[in-house]
Order: sequence, then C-alpha cells, then structure tokens
Amino acid sequence: MGVAKQLYRLQELDLEIESNEQALKKVASQIGESQEVARTQKQLELEQQRLEESRHKQHSAEWEIDDIATKISAAEETLFSGRVKNPKELANLQHEVDVLKARRSKLEDKALEIMDKVEQSEAKVAKISSQLKTLTAEWQRQQKQLDDESEKLKAILSDLKHKRQLLAGEIDQPAVEFYQELKKDKGTAVAKVEQGICRGCRISLPTTELQQARSGALVQCSSCGRILFLA
Ligand SMILES: [Zn+2]
Repeated sequence: MGVAKQLYRLQELDLEIESNEQALKKVASQIGESQEVARTQKQLELEQQRLEESRHKQHSAEWEIDDIATKISAAEETLFSGRVKNPKELANLQHEVDVLKARRSKLEDKALEIMDKVEQSEAKVAKISSQLKTLTAEWQRQQKQLDDESEKLKAILSDLKHKRQLLAGEIDQPAVEFYQELKKDKGTAVAKVEQGICRGCRISLPTTELQQARSGALVQCSSCGRILFLA
C-alpha cells in the first residue's frame, strides 16, 4: 500500500473518531439532573407546605369553634337553669350568648373557606405528585438510554483508536508527523484526486503531479499543499 493510501485511511479513521467523540460529548452533556424534574419537585414541596399551613389553620379554627361551643353551652345552661332571676343579668347573659353565636358563625364560615383551600391544595399535591412520578420515570428511562449509548460509543472509540494505533505504526513515522501538521493547519490533510482534480482545492492538477500521485508516493498538491491520494 502506498503511503498516500495509508494516510488517507488514517484520515478516514481520524474522521470517524472525531464524529464518535462528538456524539459521545453530546450524549455526556445530556446525562445528569433534569431541570424539569427539579422544578416539579420544587413545586410539589411548595404545595405540600401550603397544604400543611392550611391544615394547621383548619385545626386552629376547629378548636376555636369547639371552645366557643363550650362557652355557649355553659352560658345557655345558666340562662335556662332558673338560677338567675335578675332581668338585667338575664339580658346580659342572653347578649353574651348572642355575641358568642355570632362569632361562632363567622368562624364557621372561615373554617369552610379554609377547608376549601385544603381540598384544593390536596388536589394540587396529588396532581403534581403524579406529574413528578411520570417525569421521573421518563427521565430515568432516558438516562438509561443515554448510559447505554455512551457505553456503546466508548467501545466503538476504543476500537477505532486501537485500529488507528496499528495503522499509524505501519506508516513511516515522518509521514505520520507530516500528516498531523497538515491536519492541524488545514483541517483535512489528504485530498482525493478525481478526474485529475484535487478535491481539496478543486484545481486541475498538472500531469507530472498526477503521475507522481499515481505511483502512491507522498505528493503534495502544488496549489493547496494537501497530500494527494489517487484511488
Ligand atoms: Zn489542492
């Protein structure tokens, strides 16, 4: 195999390695925490906190209502016991009962409002929990897929790099070094020659260059400087 063909193969391997490295980089960038899952988790925590606060308020209101109910019972018991005979005292007691009942009624309305909030919050918590469960499952499935893809790409890359090492070992060391320099300089070091044209710069090559290239020796395009490879 002529050195130009060997270098062309080396270039093909390098291109394949680069494309797989790009793919691996892309996969690696997708591995990790999901912002959507984190955001939903945060939402859930907030709603759970709200629910807890509402429940706490609900209990407080219920205790207060119970407390007032006890006071009303006591006042009414006295009122109807017959022990109090003074009309003014009776009127005061009745007034106290009325005030307590009005307060209880207000508190009961408030308690209903809070209960409504608790129910709404409970529904939201259930909905977000279910969303989070779905999102997490989907994320885990994706991560597994990405992990598998990453492992596959790593195996391909290891194989390609091994092949490159073997091939580079077969080629004249100075030729490999020259190829590396050209690659660094031009991106593509070896240009195919098709119908007498250098595919690197699309210039028609002089006959002498074509003849030299055909022999498989290391010939550079006089126009772009790339190594010419005649298939
Ligand atoms: Zn050229």
